[in-house]
Amino acid sequence: MKKRLIVLLFLLVPFLLYSFWSWDSSPPTLYWREAPSTVGRDTKIIVEIQDEGNGLQSIEVVLARSGSGRVLLSETYGAPWPWQKGVSQRSIALSPEVSFGEDQLSEGEFWLEVNLQDQPNFWLWAREVSERRSFKLDLTPPQIEVRSGQHYIRQGGSEAIVYRVSQDTVASGVQVGEHVFAGYPLPESDKGTYVCLFALAQDQPPQTSMLVWAEDAAGNRDQTSFRKKVFPVRFRNREIHLTDLLMNTVVSEILEHTNEVTQQGTLLKTFLKINGHLRDLSHRHFEEFSRQSAGRLLWSEPFLQLSKSQVESAFADRRTYYYQGRKVDQQTHLGFDLASLAHSPVECANDGIVVLADYLGIYGNTVLVDHGLGLLSLYGHLSSIEVQKGRWVKRGEILGRTGQTGLAAGDHLHFSLILQGVQVNPLEWWDQRWVREHVLVKLTGARSQPKTR
Ligand SMILES: [Zn+2]
Repeated sequence: MKKRLIVLLFLLVPFLLYSFWSWDSSPPTLYWREAPSTVGRDTKIIVEIQDEGNGLQSIEVVLARSGSGRVLLSETYGAPWPWQKGVSQRSIALSPEVSFGEDQLSEGEFWLEVNLQDQPNFWLWAREVSERRSFKLDLTPPQIEVRSGQHYIRQGGSEAIVYRVSQDTVASGVQVGEHVFAGYPLPESDKGTYVCLFALAQDQPPQTSMLVWAEDAAGNRDQTSFRKKVFPVRFRNREIHLTDLLMNTVVSEILEHTNEVTQQGTLLKTFLKINGHLRDLSHRHFEEFSRQSAGRLLWSEPFLQLSKSQVESAFADRRTYYYQGRKVDQQTHLGFDLASLAHSPVECANDGIVVLADYLGIYGNTVLVDHGLGLLSLYGHLSSIEVQKGRWVKRGEILGRTGQTGLAAGDHLHFSLILQGVQVNPLEWWDQRWVREHVLVKLTGARSQPKTR
């Protein structure tokens, strides 16, 4: 009797131990990593599946619509021996265009059902988990209707366009070649009316494509052309003769203030690194500031030019640099150099918000002011700054004093206007008539137009 009991225990204990060990207490889990409620043709839906116990046995994804359905995915993972584990993790990515099949690619509500089963334990029990989620398939791009009439654009110049888009639009604007300009809802107008300030950059040819675009939440996009006349502009050529004295002054000051450029072996090489690489880096900062611009015009009058100043360099001057009679560099000067008496007060060109009051690469002590709708003004080479970041400033208010910090050969103000990262010709914005006809009239005119729906 005792012997039998020992034999029984001898068999029972490993059996109990094994069945306990193979007991799978965790059911499979699933998590919708990307699952927007409205999807388009190319929207990715991503499901993460996990089983921490014995692993997965099968996954099935079913697409259900009223009246029809289709199995989109069915996978089983074999684990031939009970002590083997199945697949413990699986990431599934679906997109209507690729996964649904032509017969299921129609607009409207649909459901995705994910059925999971993990590996059976010793007792052949498997856990099942099923989850269903509803989506809306939207294949219709937003509609765009241009409201402003003719558009006149000079190379390096700016323009405003007013357009209406359908209600489901989430982003819109104007694309000029590779430059994308965002539109902003026009206040006090019909819902769906937008304004976009855009520019043809000074280095883009007059035949560059220009389109209004709009995108909805499902990623559907439409674009349309608009009436326009584009005028080529011939920019000036200028020669700059570099001296050791100038390069020494500029290089030592800039290296003190930035870690984006280091010594390059010779004075000339370091200077050229500053003139090229640091110039590009400084310009890249502008795009970030433009993106955070206020969504409305913060001003109502034309921009001011520094009072009692003389133009030393104009917008988009093509500069060729010479050193000891040899051509060493070429850069485009993307602003106006305005000279007055040394340490002259620098007036703010228009109402706005100070977004930067600091040393900025080649521009030395710099103030950047946001004027809304992606337009910024820049005041460079200042000897002193008299405003702080975040401060609201008025047209004509003193921002600081002129100087020659940064890459400057003498006391002057470098003034630039930057439209959504693209530097534009300030001449237009200084011109009262241009500002009224190209910007203010369009914005207010659009407001007073009768409603069409
Ligand atoms: Zn300049």
